[in-house]
Amino acid sequence: MPHYNYLIVGGGMTADAAIRGIREIDTQGTVGLIGAETHPPYNRPPLSKALWKGKPIERIWRKTLERNVSLHLGRTANTLDLAARRVDDDLGTAYTFDKLLLATGGTPRRFPFGGDDILYYRTLDDYQRLRALTQDKQRFAVIGGGFIGSEIAAALAMNGKEVVMVFPEPGIGARLFPEELSLFLNDHYRQQGVEVLPGQQVTDLQRADAHLVLTIRDGKTTNERTISVDAAVAGIGIVPNTQLAEFAGLPVENGIVVNELLQAGSSDVYASGDVANFYNPALDKRLRVEHEDNANSMGKRAGLNMAGETDPYHHLPFFYSDLFELGYEAVGETDSRLETIGDWSEPYQKGVVYYLQNGRVRGALLWNVWERVDAARELIAQPGPIEPQSLKGRL
Ligand code: NAD
Repeated sequence: MPHYNYLIVGGGMTADAAIRGIREIDTQGTVGLIGAETHPPYNRPPLSKALWKGKPIERIWRKTLERNVSLHLGRTANTLDLAARRVDDDLGTAYTFDKLLLATGGTPRRFPFGGDDILYYRTLDDYQRLRALTQDKQRFAVIGGGFIGSEIAAALAMNGKEVVMVFPEPGIGARLFPEELSLFLNDHYRQQGVEVLPGQQVTDLQRADAHLVLTIRDGKTTNERTISVDAAVAGIGIVPNTQLAEFAGLPVENGIVVNELLQAGSSDVYASGDVANFYNPALDKRLRVEHEDNANSMGKRAGLNMAGETDPYHHLPFFYSDLFELGYEAVGETDSRLETIGDWSEPYQKGVVYYLQNGRVRGALLWNVWERVDAARELIAQPGPIEPQSLKGRL
């Protein structure tokens, strides 16, 4: 039975960042990692962005093995016994630990139809499957108008594919962007050749010879019609992988609940990344963040704390995306249901959107505006009240 001073469940960016944190302090302690994917940790953002613009695949690896780690890949941890400090995996191996990190991420949500004919895009294997499909398929349905939908639709269109994008909201990225910006994006994608079908639910998908037939229902009229494509990719959100924490009776509520030191209901068990529900002081609320900066920063902090530091995680993570040639960085609560103020130097090309609530700035969207993330963080941390007019030109 392998014993590790540090056992990490999960094989993504958070896990790798934690190992870097551990190794900054403890170069000798034994580190084991159990990961469901057969690959060692890699950077996920290029899968929907840079790899479609020519970045070589070799550049995604995190080089985790260089940090003297035992990798147990292609395995799923099934049970956690806190009293025995023991994890058992699906292949019958038991592991014991001194400190444990749960960096289990999330699993794509699926439709109750379509089976494996719908590619729920998240992993390197998914990238390779989609690449292979692009060799001999031409017309792709992209289901979902969030991060995966908008990035994969652009990636496929930029690689000469016909794309039809289907999602329930009125505009691309509507949960994030103010309505006008989101509607602008529908037009922008259409100008790049993407067929954009907003306000549509996908209610069925059937295979018909070499084609896939999607049934889509209009959200307003409830009328249904079908569209035929060669392949279908979906990004309809993820569900945090909390099963192991639940099994052990750790606190779970929209993710694994951690304290400021990233401990999850036990001083020797930590959680980080997409799966962790943490408190952020600048926003004075709990968050669960499914983006790269949080994976890296929170993973690192968990590793440092597991190896002996006792610093709280107070970082307010940012995120970013590319939408054809447009790009942005964003930080804080960028929820389009909040009051928003746009400060555009060029409408929808370059500018800042402020998200406000109760006289405070809760979030900022930096649209083709760069190196202002720290300034935005400072603004979000200010207690207010802030006069909306004073925000013009602020970031
Ligand atoms: P998401 O939450 O960004 O988007 C989900 C989308 O699913 C919604 O916008 C909606 O359009 C769509 N949807 C929901 N129910 C639907 C239905 N019944 N029919 C059709 N569409 C439906 O999630 P995602 O795009 O799947 O991304 C998965 C995860 O990966 C997220 O955590 C995301 O943050 C992360 N990610 C981040 C980035 C980035 O930071 N740039 C890029 C890619 C993925």
